[in-house]
Amino acid sequence: MLKYAGYDHIVIHGRAESPVYLLIDDDEVVIKDASKLWGHDVYETDSTLKKELGRNVCVAAIGQAGENMVRFASIMFDRYRAAAKAGAGCVMGAKNLKAVVVRGSKGIRVAKPKVLFHIAEELRNSLDPNVSQGIAAFSRYGTTSLLSLYNVLGCHSVRNYQDVIFDKMEDISADKLLDKYVVRNISCSVNCPLNCCHWWEIRDGPYAGEAGAKPEYIVINSMGIHLGVNNLEAILHF
Ligand code: SF4
Repeated sequence: MLKYAGYDHIVIHGRAESPVYLLIDDDEVVIKDASKLWGHDVYETDSTLKKELGRNVCVAAIGQAGENMVRFASIMFDRYRAAAKAGAGCVMGAKNLKAVVVRGSKGIRVAKPKVLFHIAEELRNSLDPNVSQGIAAFSRYGTTSLLSLYNVLGCHSVRNYQDVIFDKMEDISADKLLDKYVVRNISCSVNCPLNCCHWWEIRDGPYAGEAGAKPEYIVINSMGIHLGVNNLEAILHF
């Protein structure tokens, strides 16, 4: 979306005196008061901003962790996609920057469209799940396919590296996730043919009614195997 508004990247200097968010609407760039958003989580912030500005904006926001400068806080994009590494959310919190909201309507000018489309088609064809079993498996499971593979190879970090094979793998495996919780595969990018992401729903138990996108291998590993937790619903809840 940022590219569609005409920018390759943005650099934010300094710190606001009170909570703000940055609104980029093509060429119009304004800093707006975010005091009413401060203290709210990413879901609430995303909903409030889209209600006010329209659903055709992209929202990169922090929640309470970023506000309080938790060192590993992430920035969440449109609720579900995370810039999760290196505490970027902490940096936004330190700047009193609750969110960056972007609407871009300019499109992208391509220098050599024929060449681009030719290469894109070649790449797309090479990613056809019918081409190889490996691609088909990745399309079905996404990165969660690594859970069982790493157990076979003996390279997990079970209970903070006390073991390398998780003996409760069946409880949190990719097959269990797909069989019991995933309602459909989705793509995180409009044009990706792999659709390796998952939309899951929990139908009963203490977390009944919860739903979301993914999770990746790393979440199930960090909140499950690494901690010795074999409750997949609790991991999804997290
Ligand atoms: S772009 Fe998204 S859907 Fe496509 S392979 Fe990557 S993570 Fe999966």
